[in-house]
Amino acid sequence: MNTIEVGDRKFEISITNERINERTKLIAAQISADYKDKCPIFIGVLNGSFLFMADLLKETEIPCEVAFMKVSSYQGGLTSSGEMKEIFGLPDNLKDRHLILVEDIVDTGFTLKYILEKVYLQAPASVRVCSLLFKPEAILSPIKELEYVGFEIPNEFVVGYGLDYDELGRNLKHIYRTIS
Ligand code: 5GP
Ligand code: MG
Ligand code: MG
Repeated sequence: MNTIEVGDRKFEISITNERINERTKLIAAQISADYKDKCPIFIGVLNGSFLFMADLLKETEIPCEVAFMKVSSYQGGLTSSGEMKEIFGLPDNLKDRHLILVEDIVDTGFTLKYILEKVYLQAPASVRVCSLLFKPEAILSPIKELEYVGFEIPNEFVVGYGLDYDELGRNLKHIYRTIS
């Protein structure tokens, strides 16, 4: 089924689960090569990254640690407010460690800018970002740490594979775009 309803909106398929899996395997191989002897800490940004994080980590073949954190922001709706509130669960042992922040999507970049400011206070050895999706046309705060990107997409609202519309649709296996 190519068209679905999530809440009060209609969506059409944008990126199939098969394409996501193919791309994820390539990124995992790249990260495994880049971090072979570095024992990185993967830090997933909840809730949106939960499926990507799991699928990515299953394909990596290196010693690593896995953690999750959450930042409360972006209360429902279709646009990013740019207002951050609070970070929960960021590990406090990041000094001299190699970090890979895992995101569902980089839109304006404000969320990551805020997270990165907090992360650097702990003096990690290195920080890179891995995001499943990236909207180049929407970026307002460029993220120099954005090293691994699954798919660049136009400035349109997407849902599924972890991403929500008012908390619905995170469990969809494909990624869908709004039909305007
Ligand atoms: P940013 O701070 O980069 O503008 O956006 C960060 C967060 O906004 C993402 O982690 C995600 O939760 C949400 N977001 C941005 N664009 C979209 C989108 O197209 N669909 C959904 N579901 N969430 C989005
Ligand atoms: Mg996110
Ligand atoms: Mg959301």
